Amino acid sequence: MDGIITSVQRMSVHDGPGIRSTIFMKGCNLRCRWCHNPETFSFAPELEWIKTKCIGCQACLEVCQTGALRLTNGNISFNKGECTACFDCIPECYPEALHKIGRRVTPESLFSEIEQDFPFFEESGGGITISGGEPMLQKLFVISILKLFRTGGIHTALDTNLSIPWKHYEQLLPYTSLIMADLKAMDNELHEKWTGGGNSTIIRNIRNLDESGIPYFIRTPVIPGFNDSEKEFRDIAGLLSTLRNMKQFDLLPYHPLGNWKYVNLGVKNLLEGVSSPTSIDLQRYASILEEYGINYQIN
Ligand code: SF4
Ligand code: SF4
Repeated sequence: MDGIITSVQRMSVHDGPGIRSTIFMKGCNLRCRWCHNPETFSFAPELEWIKTKCIGCQACLEVCQTGALRLTNGNISFNKGECTACFDCIPECYPEALHKIGRRVTPESLFSEIEQDFPFFEESGGGITISGGEPMLQKLFVISILKLFRTGGIHTALDTNLSIPWKHYEQLLPYTSLIMADLKAMDNELHEKWTGGGNSTIIRNIRNLDESGIPYFIRTPVIPGFNDSEKEFRDIAGLLSTLRNMKQFDLLPYHPLGNWKYVNLGVKNLLEGVSSPTSIDLQRYASILEEYGINYQIN
């Protein structure tokens, strides 16, 4: 049993309680316009070209048969649409501007890789978080990881977009200590337009989660032009106010810090030029949540 991941981020303090090692799975069924991890969109390994490390030596041009790496107006450019992911260019690039994203791993190899972090987990009340991408698209692999770590006494969190039918989640709940899920918008049409998928399964699953008895957090990204209207916030707060067992609700203000990843991957960034919500905006959303009696934190 193996699966594909982009990376393991160690010492994370934003992916659940305590200090955590976060495993980022590759592949996602949604395409949220604000995603900070576009390298997880595709299941396939892909090439990353770090423009800021490229010294323009042109060594890669001699091996790239497709013209994906080429000279444009005297400068090197990367044209993702023409890249066949042969990765022949990587060894030619001594400044390490070219990288392969995506590696196949087994639950056991992940356990060995992360084992050195266990003392930090114990000290801080942390553990592992499986994120992505959408982990549920590699469900059997994810179940194996969760089982292995839980058997080893490690806290396990699953970060999911909650868009997969509930029966699949039921299979991994026994091995999951915490679920973290997004509630992005209540308006189905808006949700579909900005994420590539509707929200009816997500909303149904939030209710299932509430009845399941498993600890869970809900997070709402605050995205200018998407869900930052008073109506959306009232509708979100309305749903949250009916939940009985939610442990934590987080507002996650959009920030453009991950935009460089779109450049490196040659993926179009649909939110280019969009700024973070202001503190006045956030205060406005916070007041709506308070009106509905929702405890929140802004991360
Ligand atoms: S990985 Fe892409 S850019 Fe690199 S040599 Fe192969 S086709 Fe060209
Ligand atoms: S080999 Fe590396 S540094 Fe040289 S031009 Fe290609 S990407 Fe840039």
